[in-house]
Amino acid sequence: MRRLAIALGLGLLGAAILAFPFRRHVFLQLYAGLTPPPALLAPSDEGPAVRWFDDYYTVERIDDATWAIGEPRYLQQVFSYLILGEARAVLFDSGPGLRDIRPVVEALTSLPVTAVPSHLHYDHVGNHARFGSVAVIDLPHLRARARGDVLRPTRWEHLGFVEDVPVTDLRVSEWLAPGAPLELGGRSLEVLHAPGHTPESIALLDGERGQLFSGDFIYPGPLVAMVPGSSLGDYLRTAEGLVQKLPETVALLTAHRVEPPGAPRLAYDDLLDLRRALVEIREGRREASGAFPRVFRVNARMELWADFWRSWD
Ligand SMILES: [Zn+2]
Repeated sequence: MRRLAIALGLGLLGAAILAFPFRRHVFLQLYAGLTPPPALLAPSDEGPAVRWFDDYYTVERIDDATWAIGEPRYLQQVFSYLILGEARAVLFDSGPGLRDIRPVVEALTSLPVTAVPSHLHYDHVGNHARFGSVAVIDLPHLRARARGDVLRPTRWEHLGFVEDVPVTDLRVSEWLAPGAPLELGGRSLEVLHAPGHTPESIALLDGERGQLFSGDFIYPGPLVAMVPGSSLGDYLRTAEGLVQKLPETVALLTAHRVEPPGAPRLAYDDLLDLRRALVEIREGRREASGAFPRVFRVNARMELWADFWRSWD
């Protein structure tokens, strides 16, 4: 009996050691297995600045050439941004694809639209296949994998299995060099590589208007730094880079929110708070709760969800 217990114990220990490098994958797989896809939330009161486009999408004018397209009834409350120039427009993210976003976009502009993903998670690329023009960050590991113009996100880049959203191919018509300008005609966006949440994450900077479209790098709510590909080292380096680069007056237009009303906005101070939190986490000076994820409070608007095994490579 004692031998059996020892053998069982050693077996479990062995399994745990073998599974250790895949703990994030195992966590997501368990999460997907235990939770059904989320039901739609009731329509929210979005205040006077926001218009309901239909019973699902909202539209908010950020300025004369910038629109936030919201999905407040989707549990993750995602926001995509339609950024207009004089010659072309960019749709930065396209939601999970529960509904076709094209009628919303076409109601706002007649310009040719290029869909750009902030990263490859399912809740940001769900409508990209519906657009003829798609631009993706030019990173060696993505370019090497593309077959002709087709880039297929991997299961672990996409994560759609968590909510039963199938992976779809991206037909890439334009590769965006990190740091290069994306010219829209009379408006220029700088493509900033912003790894941390995922390796391929980007943000778009409109320096003239003082707007940063931040994707999932920063938003009000829990910042996810414990899925496959997340890196606290990258998170800190990107935060440092943005703190150096951005003006203190910058408006951060983000991809998720926790509650209404309207498109989620943060400010330069939130970026400073995030950098400070990351530095203190690295130095072991910030308290956390929970085991997996380890939850660190950043400020009143944000948490950071980290792996219990924290590497700063
Ligand atoms: Zn994401």
